[in-house]
Amino acid sequence: MNVPGPLNPPVRLLLGPGPSDAHPRVLRAMATPLLGHLDPQFLEIMNAAQEMLRSAYQTKNQVTFPVSATGMAGMETCFVNLVEPGDRVVVCAAGFFGQRMVEVANRAGAQVTVLERPWGEVFDFQQIRETLQKVRPKLLAIVQAETSTGAWQPLEGLGALCHEFETLLLVDAVTALGCIPVALDAWQIDAVYSCSQKGLSCPPGLSPVSFSSRAVEVFSKRKTKVQSWYFDVNLVEHYWDSDRFYHHTGPITMVYALYEGLRLVLEEGLEARWARHRRNHEALKAGLKALGLTYTATEGHQLPQLNAVRVPPGCEDLPVRKRLLTEFGIEIGGGLGEFKGKAWRIGLMGYNSRPDVVLLFLGALEQCLTSQGVKVQAGAGVAAANRTYLG
Ligand SMILES: *Cc1c(COP(=O)(O)O)cnc(C)c1O
Repeated sequence: MNVPGPLNPPVRLLLGPGPSDAHPRVLRAMATPLLGHLDPQFLEIMNAAQEMLRSAYQTKNQVTFPVSATGMAGMETCFVNLVEPGDRVVVCAAGFFGQRMVEVANRAGAQVTVLERPWGEVFDFQQIRETLQKVRPKLLAIVQAETSTGAWQPLEGLGALCHEFETLLLVDAVTALGCIPVALDAWQIDAVYSCSQKGLSCPPGLSPVSFSSRAVEVFSKRKTKVQSWYFDVNLVEHYWDSDRFYHHTGPITMVYALYEGLRLVLEEGLEARWARHRRNHEALKAGLKALGLTYTATEGHQLPQLNAVRVPPGCEDLPVRKRLLTEFGIEIGGGLGEFKGKAWRIGLMGYNSRPDVVLLFLGALEQCLTSQGVKVQAGAGVAAANRTYLG
């Protein structure tokens, strides 16, 4: 065969719903030579990564480690370990990823009650309380950052509410970790999963999970074996806890990436990192507003790291995204599910939450909108963002 030329992908700015750009320090860490995955030096790196993960998740949970696969594997791990066939589960679904949890819970054999809200809205605790009272489920699952709608679900107090009914709380924090607060212990979250490629500015490939002692007790009392061998936490744990017993070959390079990604998070400081995400979101939002765009998520519940806006009337979705990509090398996301063709999703996650990114994007978007015949005032987006930064 003719051997293809050397790998030479174009340079992109990844402002979609994920993956977002990896931090240059993370990419450098990934070029570090491999260690054996049971090498004592690598075990030290694993320990440190776990310790940093606990800090990022604000938890003392012993069982905290990255599953060797993407965010969906974290979702799968949580459901297959916590649910046995016939268990009652309530899933709060107000978007694409809530619906995914319904599908995964069903496959794990749960009797699923779906609690719904219109896309873009969040759940109020009164509605959840009534459902808990009626259904008395083993588990309630909810998405903190619904990447399909840009809605930010408040969680403070939800764990305590679930525990009143002896229900476990499972949270999807895939788009949350590293961008907005995720306080496992303070909010009494029993199980959580996230990913490496969004707020942590690493490539896709790991899904950090964590389980409370309540959740661990549920694992130990299972009557049936977890149907997935690979995702059985009782088995994987022997690799990640002090035993370091061979389960599967740890993805060394991805663990290096996570290690460096978490170092970046903790060096910056959680509070400072959340504040940075808020500040750049506010500037972007002011700019988008000045360009005539409106958010799909309810005011007051908009994620700073995922800005979902409606495609303006008379404008087509695809040509704008295509021009952003070809002229500027900028990727943003289109709508999912109900929002297909109707929304753009602009991610400012981790490393990409920066003023230079916001200003470049608003300038580029103005050109793309204008080329589609959308009437916008010249420079309005950039000017509004700058007023926010300077104000
Ligand atoms: C991205 C995402 C997932 C899926 O993660 P993958 O890494 O793509 O497998 C799950 N839930 C939410 C809320 C997400 O945004």
